[in-house]
Amino acid sequence: MTLIYDKVAVIGMGLIGASISLATRRGGLAGSVIGSDRSPDVAATVARLQLVDHFEADAALAVHDADLVIMAVPVGAVGAVAGQVLPHMKPGAVLTDTGSTKTSVVRDVAPHLRDDIFWVPSHPLAGTEHSGPGAGFEALFDGRYWIILPLASDEAVVTRFETYITGLGSVCERMSPEYHDKVLALTSHLPHLIAYTIVGTAVDLETQLKNDVIRFSASGFRDFTRIAASDPVMWRDVFLNNDGAVLEMLQRFSEDLSYLQRAIRWQEGDKLEALFTRTREIRRSIIDAGQN
Ligand code: NAP
Repeated sequence: MTLIYDKVAVIGMGLIGASISLATRRGGLAGSVIGSDRSPDVAATVARLQLVDHFEADAALAVHDADLVIMAVPVGAVGAVAGQVLPHMKPGAVLTDTGSTKTSVVRDVAPHLRDDIFWVPSHPLAGTEHSGPGAGFEALFDGRYWIILPLASDEAVVTRFETYITGLGSVCERMSPEYHDKVLALTSHLPHLIAYTIVGTAVDLETQLKNDVIRFSASGFRDFTRIAASDPVMWRDVFLNNDGAVLEMLQRFSEDLSYLQRAIRWQEGDKLEALFTRTREIRRSIIDAGQN
């Protein structure tokens, strides 16, 4: 139990916000956690599950004496929430977010920044296909990377924030916004786009075929349906806000897909086998890195 911040305010009590609150309490990292969300349904669930020490619907009131403010809302809403909370934060406090895209978040928060607030954007590489406060759990971040974007913030402030994140169970890694968006476009955003496409293709099949696809779905298709069940608003915002990097990776992906298309058409089994052998190695290295 190591107290890092006296008061932590979490704006947006969905999967990520709820999990942060639970992990903060588990680690004894804060004197108290204040939760805030615009939705009355979310407020009711937060109260029923006792996810925070205090709930305050008004984000401006929730942050006024917090030492750390975490914006855990969809990336398209981060700029507006920053505009709402920044004028009410106390001098010397730290502001962060959990958004899955970073260049857009840095751009959207910039107009609202104050000289006496430390802005340290971040992104936990942990999640599930579920959303909402009821989906949160305290072990969500255990052993997962959490990307920190120090920008020009004071080193002591960043180090203290990293101690807090480590206390949540995560492993910290520093990156620039641009590099983050490139890496995530390939490792997270493109796989989601592919899953949405494949499941969408199945939805458009004629009824009999669609029913049989669902009935006989082996693990391949089933795994895609799990990813494609992810929150529609969150993922809409991810693609709209990391459009450049996603389109660049999509272009490369299309070229590689054409290569496979040609290999299948020309019965070039050696090409297929060589690629599948290389990709199997990637899977093994992910398991070795403990990120499966
Ligand atoms: P979520 O479960 O959908 O929760 C988001 C919460 O924010 C909802 O309660 C939502 O309320 C609230 N909200 C939306 N707009 C708001 C606004 N303008 N002001 C105040 N509250 C607002 O989403 P999540 O999965 O926790 O994701 C939160 C953030 O973390 C996103 O930026 C996402 O990109 C990032 N992230 C997600 C994952 C993941 O796998 N899910 C992983 C890493 C990072 P309403 O219901 O009223 O809209």
